[in-house]
Amino acid sequence: MRIVFLGPPGAGKGTQAETISKEKKLPHISSGNLLRDAVESGTTTGIHARQYIDKGQLVPDQIVVDIIRDRILKNDCKNGFILDGFPRTLSQAKVLDEMLKKLGNKLDVVFYFVVSKESIVLRLSGRRICNTCGTNYHIKFVPPAVDGICDKCGGKLYQRADDKLETVQERIRVYHEQTEDLIAYYKKNGILKEIESETNIETITKNILDAIKGVSQNASCINLGVV
Ligand code: AMP
Repeated sequence: MRIVFLGPPGAGKGTQAETISKEKKLPHISSGNLLRDAVESGTTTGIHARQYIDKGQLVPDQIVVDIIRDRILKNDCKNGFILDGFPRTLSQAKVLDEMLKKLGNKLDVVFYFVVSKESIVLRLSGRRICNTCGTNYHIKFVPPAVDGICDKCGGKLYQRADDKLETVQERIRVYHEQTEDLIAYYKKNGILKEIESETNIETITKNILDAIKGVSQNASCINLGVV
């Protein structure tokens, strides 16, 4: 199954993608993580991408599309994937459709995470990440047992540079300007499903899994020639 998680930054896409990825045995592909890996490795792509990431702006389409294409062509994506944070522009969405068409595939479902601006700001500005194992915390909602230290591995927790308040505001602005158009695009394609994301993590996971069951059932009906 080929799934996209769409929604503003801080909507909980990454957290849910992690869980659903394990549950459904599908690779979790986060464009943000892939770009941050490139920044960490100091590649030419990473150095270029960093200028945009640190300002809360979108990295140029060509860079992100190339990274995603390479990832999707890997063997573990043969039976599907969960894309988190990609596509983010109409042009990325169209390239993705073309990419999948060439492989004889298409997207099965796009989950649109609906959340208020107030929640986004609260969630992102309180987010902390382990510098060793990558586990996410929140200073108020999911605090570690010991301040600043990861419960799982003892690594140090840090705040992403782009989770600082001014950059969060810019990321939200960019989302409205460049990513929101995708809602109409996927609605028109008939594959958009809204996920109310103000509620607790477990309920959101359950709602996504239930919705996925519906999508699978439709797919098997089509395979059986029932429709
Ligand atoms: P995320 O971890 O998804 O919040 O992404 C962090 C940052 O990486 C974004 O603010 C952008 O600068 C960049 N980024 C991630 N995904 C994309 C994308 N699909 N297109 C352009 N830039 C992206």
